[in-house]
Amino acid sequence: MQLSPLVARVLAPNPSPFTYTGTQTYLVGTGTLAVIDPGPDDPDHLAALMAAVDGRPVLAILCTHTHRDHSPAARPLGVMTGAPVIGCAPLTLDDDGPRADAAFDADYRPDRILTDAEQVAGPDWTLEAVATPGHTSNHLCFALPQERALFTGDHVMGWSTSVISPPDGDMSAYMRSMQRLADRDDVIYYPAHGDPVESPQRLVRGMMGHRKQREGQIVRFLRRHGDSAIPDMVAAMYKGVDPRLYPAAGRSVLAHLIDLDGRGVAAPAGDGRWRIV
Ligand SMILES: [Zn+2]
Repeated sequence: MQLSPLVARVLAPNPSPFTYTGTQTYLVGTGTLAVIDPGPDDPDHLAALMAAVDGRPVLAILCTHTHRDHSPAARPLGVMTGAPVIGCAPLTLDDDGPRADAAFDADYRPDRILTDAEQVAGPDWTLEAVATPGHTSNHLCFALPQERALFTGDHVMGWSTSVISPPDGDMSAYMRSMQRLADRDDVIYYPAHGDPVESPQRLVRGMMGHRKQREGQIVRFLRRHGDSAIPDMVAAMYKGVDPRLYPAAGRSVLAHLIDLDGRGVAAPAGDGRWRIV
């Protein structure tokens, strides 16, 4: 589906409670293309991408981060198109603790790593990396200055707030990355999941406010109930949410608690419980 003069999208067939209707892969450019977030290594999706590319040269395959719904198709698509994989750094995790989000793609091997403000350019497009750690430590957004557009990956999604799952997910970093987007002047976001976002700074400020509200709920809960375990906080604070998302909500509450711990507001109280300092 063509969304703007330079941007088209292809939806991958991987709908789930985490991916909404599925991962959206973006094609940027008219004659010579870039592909952003190639998606899962799924033969039907790769065939749909090759049909959308339609024989045009692909200059770069970029990944915002390395969750398995985003990057595994990078290598096979690279082989099919001859394009290099350029973008976020690979991720090495110190532990294999619980992961509430899609698991990590351990096989991701970029040909070139983009760091903040580095660019890849085609004849009618430029893509500039905007480092946005938080959802994952290696997350990048990509700015398209020709359309004042920003490809936001999972940092800002069009249908839900993103999952921040420690230890790789980091609420303090996420809030700094959100502020960074709030300070930019993009006119449209293209998220990996959900519809394009117009008036994006308003959404970013709203999402930051939502996190601050959640933080306030956690602090009030701990003040009222004393030392508490995360599942009890989730049950009280996420009423009406799909129970399949409770584990993810628990990871998000943990991310808030770690952030509060870093600011001297809350601390672990033993036995998986947390207390107010
Ligand atoms: Zn993700």
